[in-house]
Amino acid sequence: MPLLASGPGSAGKRADWAAQRSEPAEGRGRMEFAAHAAALSGTSPIGGGERVALPGRCAHPGCRSGWTRLWKNRTTPIFEGGWACSLNCLAARVEASVWRERQGGKEPGMRHRPRIPLGLLMMEQGWITQAQLRRALDAQKTRSGGRIGEWLVRQGAITESHVTRALGLQWSCPVLSTETHPAGNMRAVMPRLFVDAFGAVPLRMVGEGLLYLGFEQRPDPVLALALERMLGVRVECGMVPESDFRAVHARLLDADFPMVDLVEAVGEAPAAKLMARILEKEHPVESRLVRVHDLLWLRLWLRPRLGALPEQGAVRDLVCSIGGSW
Ligand SMILES: [Zn+2]
Repeated sequence: MPLLASGPGSAGKRADWAAQRSEPAEGRGRMEFAAHAAALSGTSPIGGGERVALPGRCAHPGCRSGWTRLWKNRTTPIFEGGWACSLNCLAARVEASVWRERQGGKEPGMRHRPRIPLGLLMMEQGWITQAQLRRALDAQKTRSGGRIGEWLVRQGAITESHVTRALGLQWSCPVLSTETHPAGNMRAVMPRLFVDAFGAVPLRMVGEGLLYLGFEQRPDPVLALALERMLGVRVECGMVPESDFRAVHARLLDADFPMVDLVEAVGEAPAAKLMARILEKEHPVESRLVRVHDLLWLRLWLRPRLGALPEQGAVRDLVCSIGGSW
């Protein structure tokens, strides 16, 4: 199980996630209460392996130790809302979650749905003529590729904002503004790898419960669902004009991301063992596992959450592929 990479998301320092504590954010009391309540109850707040355990008891269903947290000098790590009395119990719980994520839905959001081609959609809207579309299609064909929207913009048939509006219509999602994008606040939303691999930029959090996620070409409902489960917020996907997307993307990648380990495991059991060892070492006050396409994403909260938006120094990520599936 080689460690492919280990670093502060290609930026930042290891000390970042072990130090600093920023100012209290809105809803701190509520979030802390929720975190403590989940930790104490030994229940899991997310789907799949939910079970109700007695307060303070080991959350592993097969545990026979009978230890409670009162008797054992061990209050963390907490994984998916539950405490485990030993590394073995923790590894068993993690393995069950790895299996759950691998078995879980076959990405229904990404199933192919017939969509009207972008050029025809723009013609239908009356934004371009048939001749303009034909010219762009010819150029795309003879110049070996490129996106139809790019050719239409290049040939002066339409503006970039029209292309973005058309993409929004095509994918039934809104066009999002990137004005006042708080790059610094958004850096801990997800690992930097996801920004690059899935072409997504977190744009802003509204209140404590709504995250806007911007895309340049097409929304990614699998990533959106993973973020909803991981962060406990609603995620709204939307299209962003190409030039705005690039600007936000560049700004975001300039920021320090949370510490991340990228690993490859040969199977579910070795992946679970590796994750359990990291949990055991870091003693997070909460941690969760979700799948994003072919990757497993484990996030550790090293301090109690202060709000829905993760803090840069308070979280650590592990992204794992199994059997070279990335
Ligand atoms: Zn146990």
